[in-house]
Amino acid sequence: MSQIKKTCLYCQTENISDGDIQQCKHCGMDLPEKHPNDRNLKVKFFVKAFWLIALFCLIMVFYLPR
Ligand SMILES: [Zn+2]
Repeated sequence: MSQIKKTCLYCQTENISDGDIQQCKHCGMDLPEKHPNDRNLKVKFFVKAFWLIALFCLIMVFYLPR
């Protein structure tokens, strides 16, 4: 059985569906097929972390003696 956690776009309540539930338990609105919010947040975090690490490496390349 695949349990999918879906976050309601309208009231931000987490619904755990077994594949049949299409409406939010809290407000009754239709649940989204995918998680656009979660994916965007993860991508943003990944890009931020990537640039931080890249910047750190660049600073270290010039800072450390060879
Ligand atoms: Zn809802």
